[in-house]
Formats: sequence, structure tokens, C-alpha cells
Amino acid sequence: MKNHQIVVIGSGPAALSVAVSLVETGVSVSIVAPDPFAAWVPNYGGWADQFPDDFAKNYFQQTYAAPCVRLSGSGGASERVLRGRYARIHKTKLQESYLSTLKEHAVSFFDTKVSTIESEGKKDHLQLESGQVLTADLVIDASGANSSFVQKQGKGKEAYQLAYGQTIQTKPHGFRCGEMRFMDFTPLQDNENIATFLYAMPLSHDTLFVEETVLATRQQVSFDFLKARLEMRLEQEGIDVTGVLDEEFCKIPLGLPLPKGQQRVIPFGAAASMVHPASGYLFSRVIATAPEIAKHIAANLGQQPKAELLKAVLNIIWPSSRRRTRELYMIGLEMLTRMDPKRNRDFFNAFFELPLESWRGFLDDTLTPYELGLTMSKMFALSKTGLRFSLVHNTVSHASEHLFKAVSPSFTRKERC
Ligand SMILES: Cc1cc2nc3c(=O)[nH]c(=O)nc-3n(C[C@H](O)[C@H](O)[C@H](O)COP(=O)(O)OP(=O)(O)OC[C@H]3O[C@@H](n4cnc5c(N)ncnc54)[C@H](O)[C@@H]3O)c2cc1C
Repeated sequence: MKNHQIVVIGSGPAALSVAVSLVETGVSVSIVAPDPFAAWVPNYGGWADQFPDDFAKNYFQQTYAAPCVRLSGSGGASERVLRGRYARIHKTKLQESYLSTLKEHAVSFFDTKVSTIESEGKKDHLQLESGQVLTADLVIDASGANSSFVQKQGKGKEAYQLAYGQTIQTKPHGFRCGEMRFMDFTPLQDNENIATFLYAMPLSHDTLFVEETVLATRQQVSFDFLKARLEMRLEQEGIDVTGVLDEEFCKIPLGLPLPKGQQRVIPFGAAASMVHPASGYLFSRVIATAPEIAKHIAANLGQQPKAELLKAVLNIIWPSSRRRTRELYMIGLEMLTRMDPKRNRDFFNAFFELPLESWRGFLDDTLTPYELGLTMSKMFALSKTGLRFSLVHNTVSHASEHLFKAVSPSFTRKERC
């Protein structure tokens, strides 16, 4: 039976980025995914400076110099133009480029699903739904948030980011040059007790990508509800829609439990719970981490005992400092899932009052645990009394376990990979 050096499970951004990084280091890769050449569905975006220069040069479809936030409070509505350039990723170009690199390196594609994985000595045997069995030296699981091959620490409480999006044709929409709405919380007339916001990117003078989003929730929120709100908002904005070019149904699980330190496979992407628990972002982290783990695997596969290799790679993805910051983000997630629209507005008014490096660092997941702790303290100091009470109450009542883990000196000893 043929031995595969590395089998990557999945064909989303995590799978293809790590597969490309691996073949570029000279390692041989096979991919198993149900429909490996199907176009990626989500529209991906992120802060431009989070991506390497060559990635930006090749795969930014559009950038926006004036991403803005609209909030309202007792003083009326306010608009802030955020410092920093926001980018829309050219997902088709990126996916085609990844697939063509993989084909050039003679990667084998198996268009089916992995059902089970059995480990035997240094080898893994993957049972495929097609009936085939593959034997591999190493398996990378990038099969998304619902992976059944990654051992997780406990069950976690499910929360989601939900969004309904459309690419629309409009009469000239009036967005200024370089403007996009990063978060538009302008209240709607329906008096609903749930905070949703508009995320809007002009693609040309008469096309827009628009999305109505609940940042984090555990409530049942239907796509129909979000669609109705989006339509109401477009009408309120005076945007004249002449056609809907496509729709996006976005459900991102947030705050999934971390992978255990001992694994039989290397989890990557959403399968490794790498999605930012409080913002839903993942893309830039995957792009930055894929070459790092590929380099380590290429240098150590067959040299280092397999259990050590698995631990070392997991430690690149989830070093103890990141595990700590993740616990702090989980406090943020608990907060966000419990806020009514008024608290939510107070929260984001205070959040965007923070110094640039603090709120950007929070969103980009680039702060050390100490810096993140400091950012959260500053946020507390900037908050109104009612919000302060709610921050303390929610932390004590619903997130004390995360606070304890974030500050406990034993956390790194016990939970370290
Ligand atoms: C609509 C939407 C919009 C988003 N927008 C952004 C954004 O703008 N910016 C950002 O940073 N993040 C965004 N995210 C979050 C995140 O970046 C995406 O969820 C991203 O697609 C996750 O990548 P992934 O490769 O880890 O998993 P996925 O994209 O979910 O890919 C999983 C792959 O594994 C395959 N698979 C599953 N099970 C098996 C199996 N048993 N065997 C073989 N293959 C299997 C699937 O077919 C798929 O190919 C968005 C998510 C959604 C859903």
C-alpha cells in the first residue's frame, strides 16, 4: 500500500494554505476533501496590515482607507473613521493560485470525506467514505469547526456570529471613496432588543457587499430576521437596490474549546479553534501560521519522535501565552452574548475610545496577556457606570473560570502543550 507523507483533511483556506506551505518546503502532500475544487463561499476580509506584503500585493481585491463605525448614544449618533486600511480578499484568485501550486507539485486529491483515523505505531490509517484506506506519516486536520478528529478540552458553550449578506446592484450608492462601514449600529425602527450591525463594502460605484451581523449570540436568531433588518437598513439609508447578485449565510462558531495538548493529528484553522472568540476573524492568523508550522514539520518529520512533533506544532499554534489571551477573550465573548442594544452601544463607544494599538491589538489578537489585561482595564475605566456594573457582574457570574485560568500561574503548567 502506498504511503502518503502528509495527508491534509479539508480544502478551505486553512487546508490549502498549509498544504501550499508544505509543498513549497519539499514535503509531499495529499488532500482529502468532499469537493476540493469547489469555489470558497464566504467573502473574506481583514485589516490590511495583518497580512504579509506579498499576500497583500497579490490577493487584495480592494482596500478601504476609511473604514468607519457608526454608533449612537445619549449625545445622538456619531461616526468615527478608524485609522487603518481594511481589505477585501480576492478569494477566487487566492484559491486558484493555491490549487495551481498544489497541482504543479503533483498533490493527489481524494474527493471524499475521512470517516475515521486509526493510529498504529508511527503511521495513521485514514478510512475514507469512498472505501479507500490511506496510510500517512502525519495528518493535518483542517476540516473546520465541526472536526471529529481533534480532541478538545471539554465541551464549551456554543455561541455564534451570525450574518446574512448580499452582493447587491444599486443605483449609484453614494459611498465616499475608500469608505466602508466596519460596524454600523445605527438603530432601526423595529425596536428589536438585539444588537445587529451593518458591514458594508462598496465594490464599485453601483455594487455593494452588505451584511447584517450579530457579533456574538447564544439566542436563536434566524437568517430571515437578519435579512429583514438588512432590507430595512438599506431602505433607511436610501440605497436603491436594483438586483441581488448573491447571498451569504454566515454562521461562525465562537469560543470553541481548545485542542488538548495530546493529539493524533495536527489541528489547523477552525478545527484548531483558531477563530478569534470575540470577533470571528481567522483568515490572517491562518495565513501567518501556515508557513511556520510547515517549516517545523519539514525540518522535523521523521527526525523527531512523532508525539514530540505533534506537541511542538500544536505549541506553535497555541503557545501558552495565546492560551492565556484566549481565556481573556472568552470573558469578552461572555459579555457580548449578554448585552442588550443599549449596553452594546455603550460598550463599543468605550471600545473605540481606546488607543488605536489597544482596540486594533484586541481585534487582531496581537496583544500579550499583560497588554490584553491592561486593555480590558482601560476599557473598564472608560465605561459608563451601568456598563461597569454589567462588566463586573458578567465576569463574576459567567466568566470567572476564564479569568482564573488567564491569571493562574498553574494554567501554563497544566494546560501547556
Ligand atoms: C460566511 C463566513 C464569512 C467569514 N468571513 C470571514 C472574514 O471576513 N474574515 C475572517 O478572518 N474570517 C471569516 N470567517 C471565519 C473563517 O475564516 C472561516 O470560517 C474559514 O472558512 C475557516 O477556514 P477553515 O479552512 O479552517 O475551515 P472551512 O472553511 O470550514 O473548511 C473546512 C473544509 O473541510 C472539509 N471537510 C469537513 N469535514 C471533512 C471530512 N470529514 N473529511 C474531509 N474533508 C472534510 C470541508 O468540505 C471544507 O473543505 C467567515 C466564516 C464564514 C462562515
